[in-house]
Amino acid sequence: MNQEQAKTRIAQLKTQLWKAINAYFNDDTEIIPESVRDQLKYELIELESQFPELITPDSPTQRVGAPLSGKLPKITHKNRKFSLQDAFEPEELREFDTRIKKFLKTKSVEYSVEYKIDGLNVTLWYQNGQLQKAVTRGDGFVGEDITHTIKTIKNLPLQLPQPLNIEVSGECFIKRSVFETLQKQHPDENFANPRNLAAGSVRQLDPQIAAERNLSINLYDLKPLTPEENLNITTQQDLFDFFETQHLPHQPEMKIFDDIEQVIDFCLLMNEQNIRVKNDTDIDGLVIKVHNFADRKRLGYTAKTAKYAMAWKFPAEQKYTKLLDIHFQVGRTGAITPVGILKPVNIAGSTVSRATLHNAEELERKKVLIGDTVIIRKAGDIIPEILAPIESLRNGDEQVPEFPTTCPECAQSLNTSETVYRCTNTHCPAKKQANFIFFAEKLKIEGLGKKTIEALLELELIHSVADFWKLTPLDLANLPGFKAKKIENLLSALKKQKKLSFPLFLAALGIRHIGTENAKILSHVIHNLPREADEFWALTKLEIALEQLLAQDGLGEVVAQSFLEFWHDETTKNLFLELSKQEVRFFFPKQKKIINQHVNQKKFVITGSFSQFSRDEIKKLLVDNGGKILSSISRNCDVLIVGEKAGSKKTKAEAFGISQWDEATFLEKIKVGVEQKTLEEIIATNTKSTDKDDENIQMNLF
Ligand SMILES: [Zn+2]
Repeated sequence: MNQEQAKTRIAQLKTQLWKAINAYFNDDTEIIPESVRDQLKYELIELESQFPELITPDSPTQRVGAPLSGKLPKITHKNRKFSLQDAFEPEELREFDTRIKKFLKTKSVEYSVEYKIDGLNVTLWYQNGQLQKAVTRGDGFVGEDITHTIKTIKNLPLQLPQPLNIEVSGECFIKRSVFETLQKQHPDENFANPRNLAAGSVRQLDPQIAAERNLSINLYDLKPLTPEENLNITTQQDLFDFFETQHLPHQPEMKIFDDIEQVIDFCLLMNEQNIRVKNDTDIDGLVIKVHNFADRKRLGYTAKTAKYAMAWKFPAEQKYTKLLDIHFQVGRTGAITPVGILKPVNIAGSTVSRATLHNAEELERKKVLIGDTVIIRKAGDIIPEILAPIESLRNGDEQVPEFPTTCPECAQSLNTSETVYRCTNTHCPAKKQANFIFFAEKLKIEGLGKKTIEALLELELIHSVADFWKLTPLDLANLPGFKAKKIENLLSALKKQKKLSFPLFLAALGIRHIGTENAKILSHVIHNLPREADEFWALTKLEIALEQLLAQDGLGEVVAQSFLEFWHDETTKNLFLELSKQEVRFFFPKQKKIINQHVNQKKFVITGSFSQFSRDEIKKLLVDNGGKILSSISRNCDVLIVGEKAGSKKTKAEAFGISQWDEATFLEKIKVGVEQKTLEEIIATNTKSTDKDDENIQMNLF
């Protein structure tokens, strides 16, 4: 990048950053995710360090926080507010540790680690033990007066037990459960997240609104306001103990480590567990501080940050990158998916170079152009997706993507009557290939990956899935990279699958609307067809009536029609005939116990006493039906089972709006799918040990 280009880019980045910063700090809205805002800032810092002559005083890199909106009275901070330096990598923490040890001339340092609340930083002044002022962070020098709204926080004392002159600071926030309740109460208002709502509530002119929002505060810092105030606080632990004596709210948990590697282990563990809500509070990382206050004082500050602390930020799940192109991919059902080809970007530890745009409607709605800077989200196991373009970073070279009207693989015109456009050509090579890959994945045939299938199709060795079992060593020798060992492995993997579970096979065929669950129901029908011959393929000669399928529980007409179309097709008859020639045999696994939807996967708390059951029996019945037992009421709980003489749990469940079952309701719900059995029978059936899967299978080989 030359200086001229850098100048343009810097100007764009500054504009976009100020827009985002103002929205975040002054309007309490989030126009782009925080992680993307950080990424923009890093790019700007990077460019400014390459071209220092382009740094201007109005650059967001030269300021802490945001300019004030002027809505609320301004207050100058008595102690300058510093920010924390961010760390994402263990190495950054090791460097931090090295710096500190070098400065303090010591070999060991104790660190305190607290959860980093995703809230709004506030500073409180107590004079003679009385809450005088509450101030926002502002730009670090001047903040806004928010005393009127902070006073609505229920657990914040307006008067301390002792007549102290102190400044305390911490994070103001709205609890997750409160946020969710507020969302339900105000469906028309678009509350983005607890942090934004907390910020918006604190900066209301009318304290009544703040009071309704039920704000919380956790404090973590203290400074005496008069030099003679000696509180004998030497560590973070002392500070929290002191907060207790003054009834000042603080975080319930803190960890102390005497080695940075232990700190790093804890940070990485937190990353891995991906806990973003702790104690009903949104957290976005951890704060690591030198535990000893005297050491902190010696370490001091840089121009903007505290030298004794670091903020460990959880890996961002959203980042921006350049959208180089859009490819239109044909899936096994013929669905056309627009896939963004990206300039590779590291998100949450992995490199992302492709991201989905879902379908034509989404592409249209998001107004994404080829060449745009786009925000990508990748979280956990979900497929990376393009969320939105950052329009202000456009340079005019971007191009409007055109959704194809014909299949990019076979040129047949697409069916565009649904949200998802589809190629309806049954012989579309792209669909065929995707189907073969899906089949091999479903059956878990080792060595039969995407590349091998592509090669087999190229050599015209497979036309239907039955052809997999026709493959000879000679055929496979023609495939690139296939030597003796590899050939042997693939053939033996295929041989292993000559005894196939019929429902699995049916689901693996990728017939439209027939997934694992429907395949199980349909297999049941096939299994009960009158058997006139020993050969399975002979069954395909039998006509199946629509009514016969619709009589099955849980089978809809669309699914039934789709199956009949498949079953009565000539190709299907041939497929089974061919499979039979290759000695592929099917078996029908015994139907598993019916799943009780009222109980399965739900979380229960049991309280009180019951007349027909012991608590242990109830517990066992719930667990055997797939339920989980919790020891106390939290918003995670789905149902409270209430007996006689229920205590505080009942009250708490009511407060959380959790459903409650009395004994009669419990009996009714647990009976589902057990049909007309006595209580003793229910207990007996459910307490028997579950059979192993293998024993469940009747080896009914055709
Ligand atoms: Zn096609």
